[in-house]
Amino acid sequence: SEKDKRIIKKSVIDFKKVDMELLPTVILVGRPNVGKSALFNRFIGRREALVYNTPNDHVTRDIREGIAKLGDLRFRVLDSAGLETAASAGSILDRTTKMTGNVLARSQFAIFLIDVRDGLQPLDLEVGKWLRKHAPELPTILVMNKSESLDVQSGALAAAAGEAYKLGYGDPIAISAETGLGLVDLYQSLCPLLEDYMELVLNDKANQESNFLEIKDNKLPLQLAIVGRPNVGKSTLLNALLQEERVLVGPEAGLTRDSVRAQLQFQGRTIYLVDTAGWLQKTKLDRGPTSLSVMQSRKNLMRAHVIVLVLDAEEIANAQSSMTHAEIVIARQAVGEGRGLVVIVNKMDLLKGKENSKLYEKVIKSVPEEIQTLIPQVTGIPVVFVSALEGRGRMAFMRQVEETYEKWCLRLSTARLNRWLRKVMSRHSWKDQAAQPKIKYFTQVKARPPTFVAFLSGKIKLAETDIRFLTKSLKEDFELGGIPTRIMQRCIP
Ligand code: GDP
Ligand code: GDP
Repeated sequence: SEKDKRIIKKSVIDFKKVDMELLPTVILVGRPNVGKSALFNRFIGRREALVYNTPNDHVTRDIREGIAKLGDLRFRVLDSAGLETAASAGSILDRTTKMTGNVLARSQFAIFLIDVRDGLQPLDLEVGKWLRKHAPELPTILVMNKSESLDVQSGALAAAAGEAYKLGYGDPIAISAETGLGLVDLYQSLCPLLEDYMELVLNDKANQESNFLEIKDNKLPLQLAIVGRPNVGKSTLLNALLQEERVLVGPEAGLTRDSVRAQLQFQGRTIYLVDTAGWLQKTKLDRGPTSLSVMQSRKNLMRAHVIVLVLDAEEIANAQSSMTHAEIVIARQAVGEGRGLVVIVNKMDLLKGKENSKLYEKVIKSVPEEIQTLIPQVTGIPVVFVSALEGRGRMAFMRQVEETYEKWCLRLSTARLNRWLRKVMSRHSWKDQAAQPKIKYFTQVKARPPTFVAFLSGKIKLAETDIRFLTKSLKEDFELGGIPTRIMQRCIP
């Protein structure tokens, strides 16, 4: 359709060249009749679908699988063929657990469809609950299908989106599987997820031969976002970084202005600067009291790997706190979303000179301390003091970004982690000596950001304090300061 043509090459990964076996799997879920098959068909076009018969207690359901094409993206798509209607027997949750459980386990991402014409139905809520229960970690995109049938002008679509948000799967994307409406938006949501996944897989594959388990990234491209309130010096900083190197990419037709990127090289790595507020394009926004969260497009921001938050040294020197409310919100959001965070304090030149030396020292000392208290989720967030105007601190800044990214991509071998675990556990004091959880082994399941799972034998789970202890030890021993790390636990029966 016309809309489809607006999707043009944009991904940093050439999916067409990727071995089909390595492509990620996206599962379509939703109650019957929301349009899963319609979307599936649109994705696979004329290509052939594989059909599996999945015997269930009473019925045999077909599960279809095919290679999906969306713009320049390629992925495997699974049509879960409808969770059974609750009409016949029991709750759909019971009946479909077995059937879809193993299909879910094979999927890396999910698209959760609802029918915008029907409004939110009890079954949609059940599907949402079911998905959360059986695949709590599965990145899921919520899609409102059949959107062509609602009038945008009347506000009906916005109202439906507000309602759909209640499912707890974030902001829904309005599409029409039938007309192709909104597929550009779906592309934009899927693209960063699939890119990240592919980068990891390709990287892992390249490292497999050497049997070297501690995989560092091989100069994978870095998506960097620089954020901050107006006038803190983002543009000046950016220009200092880019100098002659500036290569602007986009905005491509059909993509929002927000997706403009500039590209630069640092120590052999390509760095894409994601323009989240339009300042790359020199179209200055109002200098009014627009709040940071309104200004930055959150979705684009969160596709960055590393987020740089720029603060103004002069303002800090004259303020009560190192960060304004808006800055705290964005920093917390960044680490909450698992992004690497680097804080830049700009305009240090304004604190030079004898009369200011006290202020200078105060800023250097207080900012890292305050950030630690304001963003307690992550310890050791790096802070770099620069003067974009004088071009000072550029190298320190870039090195910090590079280091943060490398740590964000770090992979630790299970063998090494378990040696480490034995060591740290010997110095951990359990709350309840009699009922200690037993960690059978500890493994990193994911990088970008580093994510770990503690496998426990028996039923006793790790307490919050145990997890905190493990997180803290991990950060200290593997120098993961500033990196959001996650530890999950699973009981092995
Ligand atoms: P499934 O049970 O979730 O696989 O749903 P289907 O793909 O079979 O679609 C159910 C019904 O909704 C069919 O009659 C489709 O033609 C219709 N449908 C699917 N997508 C759209 C859409 O985007 N707009 C409209 N108006 N109807 C749609
Ligand atoms: P943006 O709105 O965050 O992109 O901020 P700009 O880069 O446009 O900078 C806003 C103002 O601060 C301009 O007048 C800059 O010249 C000034 N500025 C930026 N960086 C520095 C710096 O390091 N020192 C000083 N003294 N002024 C700066």
